Amino acid sequence: MRIVNAIAAPSATEPLVRTTVERRNLGPRDVLIEISYAGICHSDIHTVRGEWGSVPYPLTVGHEIVGHVTEVGAEAGKHKVGDRVGVGCMVNSCRDCDNCQAGYEQYCLDGNTGTYASVDRDGTVTQGGYSTHVVVDEDFVLRVPTSIPQEAAAPLLCAGITTYSPLSHWNAGPGKRVAVVGMGGLGHMAVKIAAAMGAEVTVLSQTLSKKADGERFGAAHYYATSDLTTFEALKNSFDLIINTVSAPIDMRSYLGLLRLDGTLVSVGAPPEPLTVPVFALFGNRRSFAGSSIGGIAETQEMLDFCAERGIAPEVEVIDADAVNDAYERVLTSDVRYRFVIDIASLR
Ligand SMILES: [Zn+2]
Ligand SMILES: [Zn+2]
Repeated sequence: MRIVNAIAAPSATEPLVRTTVERRNLGPRDVLIEISYAGICHSDIHTVRGEWGSVPYPLTVGHEIVGHVTEVGAEAGKHKVGDRVGVGCMVNSCRDCDNCQAGYEQYCLDGNTGTYASVDRDGTVTQGGYSTHVVVDEDFVLRVPTSIPQEAAAPLLCAGITTYSPLSHWNAGPGKRVAVVGMGGLGHMAVKIAAAMGAEVTVLSQTLSKKADGERFGAAHYYATSDLTTFEALKNSFDLIINTVSAPIDMRSYLGLLRLDGTLVSVGAPPEPLTVPVFALFGNRRSFAGSSIGGIAETQEMLDFCAERGIAPEVEVIDADAVNDAYERVLTSDVRYRFVIDIASLR
């Protein structure tokens, strides 16, 4: 076992502090990764603050991890020392259930093993990427193309795949009209990816304050949801709406924006259940759906897609000691568009 530097939450109410975490000895199929950058996802904040259920404190979070391989297990063959790699939201699954067999490890029927706050198959609690090193089974390690800057690659491992997967599943592409609700960490990636897929993209944001950015990311149209005429003007317009907002939305208004066979997909999770007016689904044979990250093969596909198209998240790089301030700024949407921790500051 090795002890490595990290930052961790001691409890739900205290700030994150510098500490150490244990990493297991390399198993035959494990890879040791020296981490370069770790993105800050809104889920990290919900988790450390105990808002998504009980948490095994102290806890190190972080599931947008980029670094390079420094050691491989005796039987590991997928990655070699020096490779640039990434780890996203999960580090294991049963590999045996119907969903795992189909490449949907994120929907493992036995529950996937989260990168942090999960009990791994060996009984230990997983600790995330706000840390200098991590040990991960090679099957859950992604190749990160070198054409993507390392710090920008990190948020692809959660924000990127969370938006890529539903866009791909619901066939965003030429001739399709896609709306993205909210233009934060997830939303700005949804805009870039949907535009790169060839869809006609509309941003639905509370105000027009980020309109110039949205257009730069590839949006053809940009509307303020605080302006109620927006919902009248855009009625029956979209094939797909990706909702990245984790606050409750008025389902009747948003469903009304879908054209025939359109789907509203939520990837942001409000704490309270939403009220769905079923009559709004009858019109235009609309659907309401959810989506969670993506499988390992699909995550690799997303990384390769972003490298080919030259798209990457907009990031603000910070030192480890700035994480608590960064959390406050994430909560007030004062970030354009993702904080990424420079892990060199932890060494
Ligand atoms: Zn995340
Ligand atoms: Zn499974």
